[in-house]
Amino acid sequence: MRLPARQQVLTDLPLAIDPAEVLRFQGYKPGRDAPTADVRTLFDEALAEGRRLMAPRAVARWAPVTRRDADALVVEGEALVIPHIGERWGPVDQVAVAVCTIGEALEQRVSALWAARELPLASMLDSVGSGAVESLAEYVNDLLCQQGLPALRVTNRISPGYGDWDVAAQRRIFRLCDGEAIGVRLNEACVMTPGKSISLMVGAGPEARVDHYFSQCARCWMRECAYRRVPMRATVRRP
Ligand code: SF4
Repeated sequence: MRLPARQQVLTDLPLAIDPAEVLRFQGYKPGRDAPTADVRTLFDEALAEGRRLMAPRAVARWAPVTRRDADALVVEGEALVIPHIGERWGPVDQVAVAVCTIGEALEQRVSALWAARELPLASMLDSVGSGAVESLAEYVNDLLCQQGLPALRVTNRISPGYGDWDVAAQRRIFRLCDGEAIGVRLNEACVMTPGKSISLMVGAGPEARVDHYFSQCARCWMRECAYRRVPMRATVRRP
């Protein structure tokens, strides 16, 4: 098994935006709220504008885990305190750390729309950006899974600030993976700029725990993967 030894900068990445995900950011409840024709039209307008403005890119690198216990992993001297990680991921001996973004043009346009009081389009475009960066993070997760195969099982992604992982861990993530390589910076409050950015980490090991709370393969982009564990579900996320 040979994981890429160097930091990888990924550009020209595919991006598919799930309308249901965008509407979820708009407050719609899946299976309960149906958007009106006006909302669908607004979504189409925001999607077209968003596609023109997004520049998806990511940076990722693999690093060995030098120590692990129930609630922490040590990676290149960085102690990552993540409650219950030992139980969630099982025995991982590598992690991949990544930062991804769709760039700042979309959020600049959202600000201009707010200033012009074009509030519905501003709000919908912002949600399109949120859906897009989530889609991008999933694609990067799938790509990292491909890199680990066939020897390693690669877990689902986690991010500082989500669940019970303290957002302050962003500093350690950025020391392990150079977000600046794709123009993503971190401020004193651990907030990323551009705002439509996600940092993430996955674990990998021959016996790593995967699929125990949902099946990663079911929503994976990699059509031709020979190691698929369950059939793919129909989703717009796949090209
Ligand atoms: S289909 Fe499953 S095993 Fe293959 S890359 Fe996707 S998540 Fe990984």
